[in-house]
Amino acid sequence: MEELYKKAWDKIINAENILLVAHINPDGDALGSELSLYPILKKLNKKVTVFNATKPLPQYLDFLPNFNKITDKLPKNIDLTIAFDCGSFDRLGIEEKGEFLINIDHHISNTNYGDINIVKPDYASTSQVVYEMLKTNNVEILKDTAICLYSALVTDTGSFQYESVNEKVFLTAAELVKAGAEPANVAKMLFQRDKLSRLRLLAKAYDTIELCCDGKVAFVEVTKEMLEMSGAVKEDSDSIVNSIRAIVTVEVACMLREEDDGIKISLRSKNYADVSKIAIKYGGGGHIRAAGATIKDEFDLEKVKNMLKKDIKAII
Ligand code: 5GP
Ligand code: MN
Repeated sequence: MEELYKKAWDKIINAENILLVAHINPDGDALGSELSLYPILKKLNKKVTVFNATKPLPQYLDFLPNFNKITDKLPKNIDLTIAFDCGSFDRLGIEEKGEFLINIDHHISNTNYGDINIVKPDYASTSQVVYEMLKTNNVEILKDTAICLYSALVTDTGSFQYESVNEKVFLTAAELVKAGAEPANVAKMLFQRDKLSRLRLLAKAYDTIELCCDGKVAFVEVTKEMLEMSGAVKEDSDSIVNSIRAIVTVEVACMLREEDDGIKISLRSKNYADVSKIAIKYGGGGHIRAAGATIKDEFDLEKVKNMLKKDIKAII
């Protein structure tokens, strides 16, 4: 792996026009990881584009340094693309792979679509992989980089709660704090800027919670109507599935969300069920304890719920 980090950095050093890209509907790890390299590459005098196809971007991440540099426009010349936190090429929101692509990720379902693939499924976040790449190549971690990588680590570990959290994660976090990330400030930015519209959405969604399989499975629905009535936006519902998993009896939690092109499913498990298998079955992917997919051209929530009940019963 050390050699891969060196090979990747060598490619970066020798590139002129670099495109940084992360998965559509980005989370903290996606944007934090892609933005982390921006100040470092600028310092190296590279032409850098930080791309994300999603519009609008999640507002709760707008404190990340250089957030305002993210664009949904692709430049003409790209000699190197670096993809972050994205398990499959189709979720990057770009048409072509380009001349050379470095794929940096931690999804177990990653399809190795890059020319260099640095994929570490046992890592808590993509940012942890980015950190290791920088460290291996003796690259100085700038303060803005540290803030991005630390925020990504916090969001992807559920504030250091998940099974992926180990000694190495805390050592990485400590190094990032040493490099200038301020934990209390990041926590305030991430968790103390909630909106009333989001809480109103939660209230509506919680009303639809359905438990089955002796309380081991929980479903929750988010409809377009709920979003409209509460004034919330799509990503405001992202964490709902985590709260449902927190119910004492629940092993598998599932959120179904109405979207323009179908039904988005988010799956979470607590102790033993591998939900990535179900997501992959529906053309999605993810991790063992957190996975998702969009069931395209399907708009019947009850039908999808019944399908998923069968799939989930088979793994619990
Ligand atoms: P969420 O349920 O929060 O959207 O996603 C949980 C995990 O599954 C994330 O790591 C996310 O990247 C991954 N994931 C969600 N939807 C998809 C999808 O449609 N395709 C793939 N490959 N991964 C997904
Ligand atoms: Mn991630």
